[in-house]
Order: sequence, then C-alpha cells, then structure tokens
Amino acid sequence: MSKKVLILAGDGIGPEIVAEAVKVLKALQSAGAIDVVLEEGLVGGAAYDVWGDPLPAETLTAAQSADAVLLGAVGGPKWEPLPIAKRPEKGLLGLRKGLGLFANLRPALLYPQLIAASTLKPEVVSGLDLLIVRELTGDIYFGQPRGIETLPSGERRGINTMVYTESEIERILRVAFDLARRRRRRLCSVDKANVLECTELWREVANRLAGEYPEVELTHMYVDNAAMQLVRAPKQFDVMVTGNLFGDILSDCAAMLTGSIGMLPSASLNERGQGMYEPIHGSAPDIAGRGIANPIATILSVAMMLRYSLDAPQVAARIETAVSRVLDQGLRTPDIMTPGMRQVGTAEIGDAIVAALAEDV
Ligand code: NAD
Repeated sequence: MSKKVLILAGDGIGPEIVAEAVKVLKALQSAGAIDVVLEEGLVGGAAYDVWGDPLPAETLTAAQSADAVLLGAVGGPKWEPLPIAKRPEKGLLGLRKGLGLFANLRPALLYPQLIAASTLKPEVVSGLDLLIVRELTGDIYFGQPRGIETLPSGERRGINTMVYTESEIERILRVAFDLARRRRRRLCSVDKANVLECTELWREVANRLAGEYPEVELTHMYVDNAAMQLVRAPKQFDVMVTGNLFGDILSDCAAMLTGSIGMLPSASLNERGQGMYEPIHGSAPDIAGRGIANPIATILSVAMMLRYSLDAPQVAARIETAVSRVLDQGLRTPDIMTPGMRQVGTAEIGDAIVAALAEDV
C-alpha cells in the first residue's frame, strides 16, 4: 500500500531545499523503488500569510494522517514582529506536540570528503559517526511551575521546572537502546545525577533497563564532561541519549563537528513510528532565494524517513551512497566549498544526486 508523505516546505530556503528532496523522492518513485503519495501543506510564516495561523488545523490533520512529514524550515525576519503565538516557530512546536514526537534522532556523520570543512583537527573527527537521541516533549521546557513572579519584596524571580516521569524516561531510553543494538552497541546516557534528582531517576531507570539489553554496553556521563568529550574525542561515542535541555545543547555541538549545518538531517518520532524529518538548520534568510543553499541535509532527512517510517532501509542506504558519490565528484555548495572543488548551486546538487541514484540501479 502507498505511504503518505506530507511535504511542508515552510519559509526562507525551505522551498528551495525541499524541492530537491522531492526530486529525489519522485525519482525513486519513478524507478519503482518506493510507493509514496506526496501531499503538500503550509506551515510557519507561509501558513500565517495565507491563513493568519502558523499551523492551520488542516495542516495538523494532514500531518496526523500521514506516515511521515518532510519539513524544510520555518521563520524569518518578516514574521519576527508578530506576537509569539502567531510566529512561524509555533507551527513547528505545534506539530511536535500534535504528533507526540518525543524522540529526536540527530546523527552526526562526517563524510571523509568534507574533512577539511570541519573546524576540528582531521585526526579528531575522521570517521566520526555518532547519534544523539534527545527527548523532545518533556523536561524543563514544559515543566510546571514556570514563569516570572514578583516577590513581596518587589524583587522578580524566574522559575522553570525540570521534570520527567519514570515512563517518559523509559520510553526514550528504549528507543536509544534499540538504536544502539542496531549500531555499534554502545550507549552513553548523559545526565547530571550528582546534583539533579530528576536525572538521578533518569540514571536509575537506565540501569534498570540495561538488564534487558545485555548486548548493549551502557555507560553514564555527566553533561559537563559530555560537552568536553564531544570536542576532545568525539569518536568514543556511538549513541548518546539525554533529556530535552541537555540534548538541545549537545546536539548542536555535535553538529558542528561535521563541518556544515547544511549536511545534517534529523528525525523526530512518536510511539506509532510516525515521524517528522527535517534538516537541523533553520530557514537561512540571509541566503534565501539565491539558489545556493545546501540541500543535502534535507535529502539525507528523506533517507532517515525511508529508514524509520517507510520501512525501506535499503533505499535509504542508496540515497546516502548517492550523496557520497556526488561529494566524490567534487561538487560543493558554498557552505562546504574547499579549494580545488567545484562550486555549484542547490539545484545542481539535487540533480547530481538524482543522477547518481539512477546509475546505482
Ligand atoms: P539558520 O540555521 O537558518 O542559519 C544559520 C547560518 O547557517 C546562516 O548563515 C545560514 O546561511 C547558514 N545555513 C543554514 N542552512 C544552510 C544550508 N542548508 N546551506 C547553506 N547554509 C546554511 O539559523 P538562524 O539564522 O539562527 O535562523 C534563521 C531563522 O530560522 C530564524 O527565524 C529561526 O527562528 C529559524 N529556525 C528554524 C528552525 C526550523 O525550522 N527547524 C531551526 C532553527 C532556526
């Protein structure tokens, strides 16, 4: 049966990079490698401009009934003066909440062809292949009480609450254990159990679950050390799992190890295996409309979609190989340009990936 994919291009470079990802999906469809029905919808500033709402009900409904959502990016200066509830980013948060996307998977993989684009020494990052699993719907971002209050003395106090239930911790840890089992079987759980009770519980649950995954080696690391180890010796990690706040920070740090934000895909999954797939970068208003954005993160997000929501891991691997071939050919968008390579635009990269896929058949 056909799988339904909702395409939400969004704002800024979103439509440019998503167009290339759609080219890849359509090429695979024509070759009979996948059976998908593509639907389009509006989100973010693009939706606000038409409907006065960054997440119209019809977009959320279409997302809920899709097997997977492919998102470009949302936001831009045009919508910054709007009240928070109407801003494009609300569309993204509404989709995460509306779909129950609790597990955020962010792989950081360094293509050997791009080693010169990393800010770290080649020997530190060469061969890097790690996966950060971040809990996405709990923690201090959602905990109550929160807010800014005025004390009787007149002084103001800001409050946020770090909170996780045992079942929320168990749910994300199981995702991470399962992923580690299919990779190099090493899982590092990141917490701050020496000072935060909430993460003391996290560690306790991780240790309890470890008994059910004897093939996975579980280790624990405090978040401050994890940040340091990520830039000191990142290759020690296979899968890292952590809460929403720590994951937010560590995953951006890990992203930069690979050279360009334009290379990194992500997946956000719910309990039913539905997922939203998007590049980790934003709408890059500074380069929007110029045809120079790197579409590879979005195309690799399609590969993640095929692997995690559409049950087509071999086709996912073919996309990843095609990306690697195009990098071998020396084609580069400006963000990953290094001396001796050939600078091209967004569409040329997409076309070259489609051509590499065709050769692969
Ligand atoms: P950004 O990720 O959009 O851009 C940061 C820098 O990286 C810019 O210099 C940009 O040109 C470059 N860049 C990003 N993607 C690129 C690509 N594919 N190819 C080449 N270069 C690329 O972050 P920002 O500038 O902080 O935010 C811009 C807007 O995006 C804001 O409105 C922000 O709220 C929004 N945003 C959206 C998402 C999302 O939709 N998931 C995520 C982050 C930021």
